[in-house]
Amino acid sequence: MKHTLRALALAALLLATAACGKPGSPPVKGPQPEDLPVYKVDTGFSLPASRTWEKAKKRGRLVVGVKEDQPYMGEKDPASGRYSGFDIEIAKMTAASLGFDPATIEFRTIASANRETALQNGQIDYYVGTYTINDNRKKQVGFAGPYFMAGQSLLVRRNEKDIKGPEDLDGKKVCSAAGSTPYQRLQKDFPKAVLVAYDTYSVCVDNLLTYQVDAVSTDDSILLGYAAKVPEELKVVGKPFSKEPYGIGVPRGDDALRLALDDALEADEKNGDWKKAYEATLGLSGQPAPKPPAIDRYPAG
Ligand code: GLU
Repeated sequence: MKHTLRALALAALLLATAACGKPGSPPVKGPQPEDLPVYKVDTGFSLPASRTWEKAKKRGRLVVGVKEDQPYMGEKDPASGRYSGFDIEIAKMTAASLGFDPATIEFRTIASANRETALQNGQIDYYVGTYTINDNRKKQVGFAGPYFMAGQSLLVRRNEKDIKGPEDLDGKKVCSAAGSTPYQRLQKDFPKAVLVAYDTYSVCVDNLLTYQVDAVSTDDSILLGYAAKVPEELKVVGKPFSKEPYGIGVPRGDDALRLALDDALEADEKNGDWKKAYEATLGLSGQPAPKPPAIDRYPAG
């Protein structure tokens, strides 16, 4: 009982923080269910060439890996257990195209460092969570997409004066997620930064707010969400310094599933659902809907 009360008080505090921006600025709200598109379920869809699809069909539902602490991308409401964000919408719209009712998706939170293993050992059918497509990862998993282009950036405290870009990080404590491309890039290109790694970016943000680190570095799409929640405390600085094309991770070798997801993404970009989903989620952190990048149907093998 005592714990429940404390959890409720904390949730109320977080909600209050999320709802009040700078004085005079409009309140920052999360995705509103009534603004989200309703995706048409393709009930006649069948994909016998995909082992993953067949397994999910037998099970009666899809299991999709996501993030749970990235505002506007993939966020879990601790009270209701519901997930929301642009990645969650990508999962729902593609599920509908594959013949699964989005309401029945089982979302599973998987951290950056564990994505490949989760796909390899069949813990999830596919993964939608700010997952950069690159050649190294392609040796372990397959990727549909890209469905969005992000870029590495920096989040600092609002009163920060010294850090304006990655060239100012010498001797500074910079936090990122283990197993992520931003962490690897800092290590390689900015070796004088003092790196700190955690499983999740939200822990990095807590460390930034309590002066344990000087900056958090990952994709702008993720950082803008944290900044939008507490704009009086945090800001994103400089220009993005990498290209992070987001893909849907699938088990390697299941090319039937990968190409079906490519088709689904392309259809949703054409029929307007992609844009509507963006505007109701990630668009809330301040950037207008971009043109989605071209889908890369790379050959099997
Ligand atoms: N997009 C980057 C990556 O896949 C950073 C975001 C994340 O860790 O999910 O590593």
